[in-house]
This record gives sequence, C-alpha cells and structure tokens, in this order.
Amino acid sequence: MNDLVSKQAHTLMWFRSDLRLQDNQTLVAACEHAAREGRSVRAIYIATPTQWLIHDVAAIQLDFIERQLNQLAVQLAALGIPLEVRHLDTFSLIPAFLAQYIQQWQVDRVFASSEPEFNECQRDQAVAAKVSLVLHQQHCLLAPLSVLNLSGQMYKVFTPFAKKWREMARAKPIQTLNAPNAMTKPIATPEPIVLDVPKVSSKAWAIGEEAALAQLRLFAMTKAAEYKASRDFPAIDGTSHISAYLAVGILSPRQCVVALLSHYPDALVHDESPGRSWLNEIIWREFYRHLLVAFPRLSKAQNFNQFADNVHWRNNETEFKAWCDGLTGYPLVDAAMRQLNQTGWMHNRLRMVVASFLTKHLLIDWRWGERYFRQQLIDGDLAANNGGWQWSAGTGCDAQPYFRVFNPITQCEKFDPTGEFIRSYLPELASVDLKLIHKLKIPTQEQRFTDNHYIAPIVEHKFARVRALTELAAMKRGG
Ligand code: FAD
Repeated sequence: MNDLVSKQAHTLMWFRSDLRLQDNQTLVAACEHAAREGRSVRAIYIATPTQWLIHDVAAIQLDFIERQLNQLAVQLAALGIPLEVRHLDTFSLIPAFLAQYIQQWQVDRVFASSEPEFNECQRDQAVAAKVSLVLHQQHCLLAPLSVLNLSGQMYKVFTPFAKKWREMARAKPIQTLNAPNAMTKPIATPEPIVLDVPKVSSKAWAIGEEAALAQLRLFAMTKAAEYKASRDFPAIDGTSHISAYLAVGILSPRQCVVALLSHYPDALVHDESPGRSWLNEIIWREFYRHLLVAFPRLSKAQNFNQFADNVHWRNNETEFKAWCDGLTGYPLVDAAMRQLNQTGWMHNRLRMVVASFLTKHLLIDWRWGERYFRQQLIDGDLAANNGGWQWSAGTGCDAQPYFRVFNPITQCEKFDPTGEFIRSYLPELASVDLKLIHKLKIPTQEQRFTDNHYIAPIVEHKFARVRALTELAAMKRGG
C-alpha cells in the first residue's frame, strides 16, 4: 500500500439525486453501518459533465445542483462528514475510479440511492461488479415493480395503478426519517464547490432542504385543498412548485405524502378528501417512474405505443424554432414558451398545451420537444418528461387519445380568461383588447403588434387539426 492510503477505515455515502440530510434512508443506513463497524463516513458526489451534456441536462438545473451541494457540504461538515465532489466525464469511468477510491480510503461499502433510468441502472451494475455497493430505493414512496396487477404485471392504466398504490401505501405507517446524528466533531467549513459545467442562474429558487420543506408544508396547509379548483390556471399560484426539489432529491416523495396527510389524513382513503387531487399528482410521478423501470425502452426515447413508429412527423425546423422561441402566433403557446425560456419552469396546463401544439398542430416528433424541455427545465426529470410528452402526443401509456387535439384558443379562453398570464409574458399584448387576443385577428406585416393585432399564427387551427388526425391515425390500432 502506498502513502496515499488512509490510516482510518471508512464507509462511503455516494450522493446522486438524493441531495438532502432529512428523510435520506441511504445516508442513515451508511451512518448506522459505519457506527456499528467503528468506521468514519465520507461522502462523494460524482459530476459527469459529458454525460450531462449528451443528455441535455439544463444549465439551470446544474446551477441548482451546485448551490445545493454547497449547502449540503456545510451541513455534512457539521456532522463530521466530508463531502468531496469529483468530475469524471462519463458514467463509464466511475467503476474504475471507485475501485481505486475504496482502496485509498479503506472503504468497506458504498451506499447509494437507486435511480430508475436505464443508464443509471447500467452504471450501478458496472459499479457493483467492482465494489461492494448497497442500493436503497427512495426515489418513489413505493418501489418500482412492487405495485402490480393480479397477473403480476405493471399496470398500463393509471386509475387502477393509483387505486392499488393507495391501498399499499395505507397498509403500513408512513414516517419520515430524521437527519443522522453527528458522526464525529464538526470538521472545517468546506471550500466552495464549483461544478465545471455551463450554468444558468437558478437564484429565483430558494435553495436548501429547510426552504423546500417550508414551501411544501405551507402548500399542504394553505393551498392543497384548493388545488383541484386552481391547478389549471397559470395566472393563479395554485401549485406547489416543488418539482425542482423532487427532481434533484432535496425533497423526498415520502416527505410530500407525510406533509399532505398531516392535514388530510383521509387522502389515501376517500375520493372526496380535499387532499386527494394533489396526492394523485404524486402518484402520477410514481406511475411514470415505475413505467421507466418496467419498460426500459422508455429511457431510450422509444414510443411506448409501438404503432406510433409509423407516424410521419413533419419535423419542420423553422416551425420548431418558432415554437421554441414563443413565436407561433398563438398567445397562450407563446407566453408558455417564454415562461419556460425565462424561468426554467412551466405550469403543467401549459406543458400540455405546448406539447399538444408541437406534436399535433405542427406534427413535430415529441422527442424534439422532450429534448428542448430537458435543456430548459429546472425540474427536468426523464420519467415525468417522457411520460408528459408521450401522454400529450398520444404515443404513451394511458395517453391522451391521438384524436384529442387541444384548441390553443379555447384553452386560452378557459384557463387564462382575463389574459393575465398571457400579458405577463407577452408585453407586446399588454394593451390589446382581450377579446381580440382570443379571436386572433390575422395581421398584415405592417399591423404586427399594433392596432389590436398579434403575429400571424404559424398554422391555421382547423387545417392543422385535420392534418394531425389524418397522420396520427397511424396510431389508431394501438390506441
Ligand atoms: P404540482 O402540481 O404541485 O404537483 C406536485 C408534484 O407532483 C410535482 O412537483 C411533480 O413531482 C408531480 N407531478 C405533478 N404533475 C405531474 C405529472 N403530470 N406527471 C408526473 N408528475 C407530476 N415534471 C417534472 O417534474 N419534470 C419534467 O421534466 C416534467 N416534464 C413534463 C412535460 C410535459 C409535456 C408535461 C405535460 C408534464 C411534465 N411534468 C414534468 C409534470 C408537471 O408538469 C410538473 O411536475 C409540474 O408542473 C411541476 O409543478 P409543481 O411542482 O407546482 O407541481
């Protein structure tokens, strides 16, 4: 052994998308194991810049992760646990690196939280072949492949999945875990952590688990009961805004369910419970994660409904750019895309509207939109994003039928009736008469942005609808 080998024996906590101390089963298990064995705990986070680039992880999400790592490092230091951040370009370099690392630090076991994505599972298999890896499942409240139908298969329809999920969830008490106790005396305040990747400021989002928990609890106490009525209106602040925290693991799904049940203990039991509607969204999140594990092809951006392989997407690049830039001429679509581009987040109703518009009105492959979302979203999450896009395109599991084409004007009239949301992202329409926004007068070149006109729609709704129905009928037999 060379001089670089630690004199002290360690256990390693490998953080990934579980960047928190509270309700972190993996961290608790690592600390308990180390205490039993008389070892110290070290923690590591492995940044993989090339992997992230290839998979289009948004620069705003990377900034968010960097900020959280800095918080976590300080909290861990107070527990006597050093957090080290290493940069390795891709997952393929991790097994050899860890093999060397465990020798250097005399590590007996590596504790990590499992992740549902295909590449992440492959990574863990390769690592487990080299080092003693202990995985804990905590990205879902109920483990993937545990909520099965009577034939022992994954459900392909949400409603029976959700029913079974609720039955299983109420079978035993749901309790969160405290942060582990200090392992040793606090260690020195760590140096600032800098991820060597392109970043976009995420400062608009409060960082840290205390802030995230406070937001979650406040939502559960004050807004969850109104969620059903308000969740579809983008001008109303009616949703929880916790998706970014769940995506990188600052919050756990169990904390979400516990926060909700503390106010609405009947949410798992009664359809009429005021907490039921929000609980359903947490279950949708789990549904898509379970699907990703049961059908690994979803991680490879394949259609769930394989009849959709026959669709001839138009894939017009100019139209795609207009959609990305919020210049389609449909105010609700454009305001939504500008919300995404300016904030890194988009309201769920609008995600459905813009996804429907891209895949149906423009007949652009859902994978283009899915990728663009990943590049922009602070809450980018493969399972939810893939699920949402395939639902909207009609190619997915329990998806919206292919023949349901959202009318972007009706959606606007229904869900932004006063035009408040539209105006907040389209300043050029600030003084335009609302009825005219909804009626979409088609302007001449000179009339743009003046005289109650907006830019010309990129495609006429009725025409686009018929064109979509004709083309997407390719999915009919599988729908
Ligand atoms: P709330 O309405 O308060 O819901 C609470 C939580 O439930 C969310 O934080 C989220 O974790 C989960 N959730 C809510 N709706 C859904 C849903 N439809 N599917 C799965 N989980 C859900 N969500 C992501 O987290 N990451 C994504 O990359 C993502 N991409 C999407 C793409 C499309 C095309 C669509 C239609 C939806 C997508 N969603 C995604 C789901 C949803 O839009 C967001 O989770 C939600 O808008 C986040 O805001 P919130 O935290 O205020 O959610």
